Amino acid sequence: MSQQNFRSILTGSFSTPCDDNPTVAMIEAAYRHYSIDAHYINCDVKAENLKDAVAGARAMEWVGFNCSLPHKVAVIEHLDELAESARIIGAVNCVSIRDGRLIGDNTDGKGFLASLNKVAEPSGKKVLLLGAGGAARAIAVELGLASAAHITVMNRDPKKAETIASLVRDNTSARADVQAWDGEASVPEDVDILINATSIGLGDADAMPPLKVETLRKGLIVADVIPNPPRTRLLREAEGRGCTVLDGLGMLVNQGVIGVKHWLGRTLDAGVMERTLKDIFSAD
Ligand code: NDP
Repeated sequence: MSQQNFRSILTGSFSTPCDDNPTVAMIEAAYRHYSIDAHYINCDVKAENLKDAVAGARAMEWVGFNCSLPHKVAVIEHLDELAESARIIGAVNCVSIRDGRLIGDNTDGKGFLASLNKVAEPSGKKVLLLGAGGAARAIAVELGLASAAHITVMNRDPKKAETIASLVRDNTSARADVQAWDGEASVPEDVDILINATSIGLGDADAMPPLKVETLRKGLIVADVIPNPPRTRLLREAEGRGCTVLDGLGMLVNQGVIGVKHWLGRTLDAGVMERTLKDIFSAD
């Protein structure tokens, strides 16, 4: 008689609100596509219940989970270990559970780098990073760890930009400085990569970061973190001027690939996850 196994591998996400988080659809589609007997459970976990949720995941021998807002910083005190970039960034969005030990990583910047690597190596590059929130912080640290030469962080509130620039300077080999974002920004000619890491464009295909579009030149790489809609106005303008463009969908999908690799030790092809998200976003 064949040996049957009725126990599935468990993974999931803790956030609140969680109703509009499409990660579950993306990861479950990949599990089904590869006939992996695993589930991803999208859990609404209020701040006061995070400790119990983490203990529950450990007790039920989940192999890992994502953490989204508002838990990315609060989860750290419940973990046993942090990956290097998560420690520098000070935020965790992906936890692996191995032999009962909880290891926190931050995949925001890693997902971005995986997407970027398809068109360019970050090493030695000069970057202009728009925004200074959580996404910008993760991207800046990973670019620094990947040996970018120089990162300028541009934000309306320059104090927030300076926090990121000093993190990069203190923890990586990259040089970093700050520019206050006041009026329309110009992209200097020696910049190799422009990244929109603001929330401008989320849910609004016509929103455009205040930029002098004539400074988007051929050869420049222009990346946007906005996953929905993926073809933001910035990317459309950049493409029209001969730039190489990268959308935020790639960053999100690669975070799924990295999470599954952490939890299951398997590198899945991103295609099925990408198609699932595209279908969901086009139905919005
Ligand atoms: P935060 O709220 O932490 O930061 C938002 C940033 O956007 C701030 O720097 C803010 O500037 C800036 N900003 C917002 N509106 C404007 C404006 N009108 N003009 C100039 N700057 C503006 O958000 P996150 O960093 O967490 O997320 C940013 C975006 O990244 C979100 O849209 C999110 O969906 C996306 N994201 C995508 C991921 C992916 O995998 N594709 C992963 C994570 C995030 P200020 O400080 O001056 O207010």
